[in-house]
Amino acid sequence: MSLEHLWAGWRNAYVTGAADGSPADRADPEADRGPDRCVFCRIAASGPPSAATGVLWVGRTALVVLNAYPYTSGHLMAIPLRHVGSLGDLSEEEAAELWAAARLGVAAQEAAYGPEGINIGANLGEAAGAGIPRHLHLHAVPRWKGDTNFMTAVADTRVLPETLGSSWERLTAAWPPG
Ligand SMILES: [Zn+2]
Repeated sequence: MSLEHLWAGWRNAYVTGAADGSPADRADPEADRGPDRCVFCRIAASGPPSAATGVLWVGRTALVVLNAYPYTSGHLMAIPLRHVGSLGDLSEEEAAELWAAARLGVAAQEAAYGPEGINIGANLGEAAGAGIPRHLHLHAVPRWKGDTNFMTAVADTRVLPETLGSSWERLTAAWPPG
């Protein structure tokens, strides 16, 4: 599976989840209509970290949350608390903490899963594959050699062997101190 395919898959997962009748607060195809209807803004307003929301860490201007439709176990996102769509819209403080949040998440993934690699990146704009293009988010996806070979064929049984709740517990237990 190419990197482009993987990136686009994140968008597809959101759309598919919504069509399947998943909870509206996790996969709302109309979520990208502004702060009042934005899934990430609702997550940002959901309070401290909890297994119920999938939020792993909350800072002053950014948070880290599990992706509700993970590509692999431990797939998480760092997002600014503020509803901004582009890197240029971030303040210096927001940009710095967003990156710090991503680093914390990656450190937790490394400690919790020992992946052979991690994809980190963002889809800027709908054409680039962003599912929620108007609220910036950085993906961090643990990877293993060969995971692309069986991902599409037996995704349910091998790529995602654990529930989101289990991922939250593992990453929280492995979260860097401080
Ligand atoms: Zn938003």
